[in-house]
Amino acid sequence: MSDDGQRSIDLGAALEDWSGPDDGRTAYDGAGDPAVLDLLAAARGVGVQRLVEVYGAGWRELPRRPTDPDLRAGLDALHDVLAAPTWDEGGWYVAGEPFQLALRPVADGVELGVPVGGWTGAGSLEWEVRDRHHVPDGPDHDQAAGAVIAVLLRSRHRTFRWCRYCRSHCAPEQLLSPDTCHACGTRWNGIVY
Ligand SMILES: [Zn+2]
Repeated sequence: MSDDGQRSIDLGAALEDWSGPDDGRTAYDGAGDPAVLDLLAAARGVGVQRLVEVYGAGWRELPRRPTDPDLRAGLDALHDVLAAPTWDEGGWYVAGEPFQLALRPVADGVELGVPVGGWTGAGSLEWEVRDRHHVPDGPDHDQAAGAVIAVLLRSRHRTFRWCRYCRSHCAPEQLLSPDTCHACGTRWNGIVY
């Protein structure tokens, strides 16, 4: 703790890595990465307009790797030793700010899930996808996907809290305490990570 405005903002840098400039909440425009939209539409064999009608917009790649270089190097080494797809299974995309929904195309449909972030050290945020649901292709796919998405969003949204300082709606990984986000903890309470 410090009251002199001192900032050691490794954590802020990590936030930039996964959600854009500043903490991303003002920079993210909601449309998503055009290249990712094209990729997902192609994977699903539909146009972008159809894609966003079924799954929503805002898709970009889920950050897969820890932002801390030492930890990343360690995990890379471990991954090499194990010679197996362990921590980084890849292929997931996320939508929403904060991240709200995860999607990845699979051979016979899509998988949907809830993106959940966890700090593995100062400046190192890792993501995993929980509550995974496979929605197979078929005549009922769009309706089934919509139902799954509604359930997953309810689950994720229930974990969000408002920051008492910046009034942002924050996901758990953005919160220092139930009513203060990491950025405001640093900015207003002088908390150094
Ligand atoms: Zn805040």
